[in-house]
Amino acid sequence: MRGLFYSLSLLLILFNTTFSNSKVTSTEEYARNAWGNLETAEVTTRKVNENLFLLYGLGGNIAVSKGNDGVLIVDSQIPIIFPKIMKAIKKLSDDKIIYTINTHWHWDHSDGNLVLDSDETKIISHSNARENMQKGGLINMGTTILNQEPYPKSALPVITHENGMSLYFNDEKIDLLHFGPAHTTGDTVIYFTNQNAIHLGDVFFSNSYPFIDVDNGGSLSGMINYLEKIVLVIDKDTIVMPGHGEISSISDIKETIEMLKTVKNRILMSIENNQSLEEIISSNITKDFDKKYNTLLLRDTFIDRAYASLK
Ligand SMILES: [Zn+2]
Repeated sequence: MRGLFYSLSLLLILFNTTFSNSKVTSTEEYARNAWGNLETAEVTTRKVNENLFLLYGLGGNIAVSKGNDGVLIVDSQIPIIFPKIMKAIKKLSDDKIIYTINTHWHWDHSDGNLVLDSDETKIISHSNARENMQKGGLINMGTTILNQEPYPKSALPVITHENGMSLYFNDEKIDLLHFGPAHTTGDTVIYFTNQNAIHLGDVFFSNSYPFIDVDNGGSLSGMINYLEKIVLVIDKDTIVMPGHGEISSISDIKETIEMLKTVKNRILMSIENNQSLEEIISSNITKDFDKKYNTLLLRDTFIDRAYASLK
């Protein structure tokens, strides 16, 4: 997996140094450029807890809950790796996937819905995420714009929520939480209350600047607000499963909040001083954070989207 991060980073470096006009590309083309040979990618399974696992493959980390009621998964990655995801799930449990929760509408978390057995599993998401999946749309990453195709009915959630909901499944209360616009307008975080573990989707990347889908309603201030609300729900022992990256803890979230607040203030000050985006990017305003965060999503993309959100 680490290798995948590096290849994605390298690709983003290429995009960022060319910094030409943004071009629209398909999600598949993007994935092939970013992750290399998709056909040979492997899935790795991390044990989070007795009945909870995290699968790494191509795209957002997949949480798997198994138990008396069957299997529940969080996110579905992309179709090309899905047979290997299924194999990894089958190794954990022979039971059916009763529920699939999508943390948000982005392709690298939800395109796997296209190959899920819709007779077997009920897909759940925030209502805005479902609307985005149904319509499809452009995801502006600053230097690259991805075109996500609309999903057919069979790949769409059949249960939605507006401000959160709970499932009683596998002998625990599973809270689906939503705190307003952040990475997108339809982010759901999933809190497994008995196991004290939370899947944060793309509201939180471990050790990377976040991506903010500003053109579809995401915002930097929303990201900060959302993370601050999460910190109030969890505690120092909570196992934090990020959308991308390694398992983390509340202290990592708190550190990210401080970084985001600092960068936000710096960009606001630069805007007040009439600095252009190019001037802000070349003035190294994130210098003290780059060593830790300039990894998966690169600095220039982050600043580009943060600036668009604050301007
Ligand atoms: Zn995303």
